[in-house]
Amino acid sequence: MKRTLEQIAQMCSGTLVRESDRETLIEGVYTDSRKPSAGQLFVPLTGEHFDGHEYASSCLASGAAGTLWQRDHGDAPEGAVILVDDTLTALQEIAAAYLKESGASVVAITGSNGKTTTKDMVYSLLSTTFKVHKTQGNFNNHIGLPLTILSMPEDAEIAILEMGMSGRQEIERLTQIACPDVAVITNIGEAHLLQLGSREEIARAKLEIMAGLKNGGLLIYNGDDPLADRVLAEPATKKPMEFKRFTFGMNATNDDFPTGMMNHPEGMVFTSVRSGEEALSIPLIGAHNVVNALAALAVARHYGVSYENMKKGLSEIKLTGMRIEVLKGTSGITVLNDAYNASPTAMKAAIDALAGLSGYSRKAAVLGDMLELGPRQEELHEEIGQYLTPDKLDLVFTYGPLSSYIAKGARQHMPAEAVFAFEDKDALISYLKDRMSSKDVVLVKASRGMKLEDVANALITEP
Ligand code: ATP
Ligand code: MG
Repeated sequence: MKRTLEQIAQMCSGTLVRESDRETLIEGVYTDSRKPSAGQLFVPLTGEHFDGHEYASSCLASGAAGTLWQRDHGDAPEGAVILVDDTLTALQEIAAAYLKESGASVVAITGSNGKTTTKDMVYSLLSTTFKVHKTQGNFNNHIGLPLTILSMPEDAEIAILEMGMSGRQEIERLTQIACPDVAVITNIGEAHLLQLGSREEIARAKLEIMAGLKNGGLLIYNGDDPLADRVLAEPATKKPMEFKRFTFGMNATNDDFPTGMMNHPEGMVFTSVRSGEEALSIPLIGAHNVVNALAALAVARHYGVSYENMKKGLSEIKLTGMRIEVLKGTSGITVLNDAYNASPTAMKAAIDALAGLSGYSRKAAVLGDMLELGPRQEELHEEIGQYLTPDKLDLVFTYGPLSSYIAKGARQHMPAEAVFAFEDKDALISYLKDRMSSKDVVLVKASRGMKLEDVANALITEP
């Protein structure tokens, strides 16, 4: 981006302290005082443990072209300063104005599971044809989203933005900053059940994305869950006067659904109603990733991407790490590393992906605790256990106190000698390394906080 300090002040209704700084050029925005800063605007944010205002003057001294300053924080440092009422709001306003001025079309993606995956897929498809910018990693919240927007090159044609949340009104704020042309809801699951209390509330939180959808915009959503339509029809759901809708999912009632699917160790091959007879392939496993691909294809079709480019885009998808990555190291054991996160929906999707594989001597799952599930957490873990059957896999290893309920549930259908519950990660790792061989495949999945990638990484290395 390139804006003068005067323009920036206008974008956030701030006051530029010194007249002489009006023409000073800003080429980017940053909030981390430790980052290189030449020519950039420093935005001091106030967090629980840190107050960015403490670093504003040293940022100016080390090359920042200017800084914002929140009025209630006392005297601003000497230099190129814009005074604002609230630095976070100002950051969001600057991002909103920049995005609008850029004229880029906006694709916003939310949902309980699969946001980052779908975002990476949409990027892969659209970048065959357009100049696109996407959220890096998981920068999907009230700070990450504006920073993503502000790192977008001026000539980008489409911005692909992930919108995350942990409570009500968060997506609403994000969608009002970015005003999508296309809004995608990957699914409605149980993630954040603790904070939201019920699946209805989760659905309402996702559908807040409609509050910022441009009039005449397109909503692409997973139609498998009747909750989405129900909440969409609620008068309290803020939405544009007119919008188009397109549903995808596993059910044949959707506008697009898979008509055939084949599992290969290196990915899925599928056909869908809208994609015609010819099979498409993705370098990812799991039926859930086919469903994510249908959402991404709907976005690409909306922008008129050619069939050839859609095929090419799908085959070249590159995901952000630990989302059901197929790893094979010196040990020869195949590991499906899905340690990035877990909720019941995602857990079942990963188990199905494992179940769909063939050609291995044994299939094992290492399942750890799913965090933040609220008062029903034990029950939800036990249900995952009950979902495990001998036709899906051969061995189950659980790790963590909540996961002992997975083990308990698993003993319902699995032979007792095929279920192992661990509390100690090192003990689990050494047990697995003794038992598993290069002919086996092992799925590793838990909430981020359990750090199960330690197990995945240990399993692929010798000895
Ligand atoms: P976060 O809330 O952490 O940003 P996210 O919504 O971006 O998560 P991804 O990072 O894409 O989700 O995927 C996280 C995990 O969710 C994956 O590892 C996979 O197991 C599971 N997952 C992805 N897509 C789906 C889906 N459509 N249905 C169920 N589970 C899914
Ligand atoms: Mg994400």
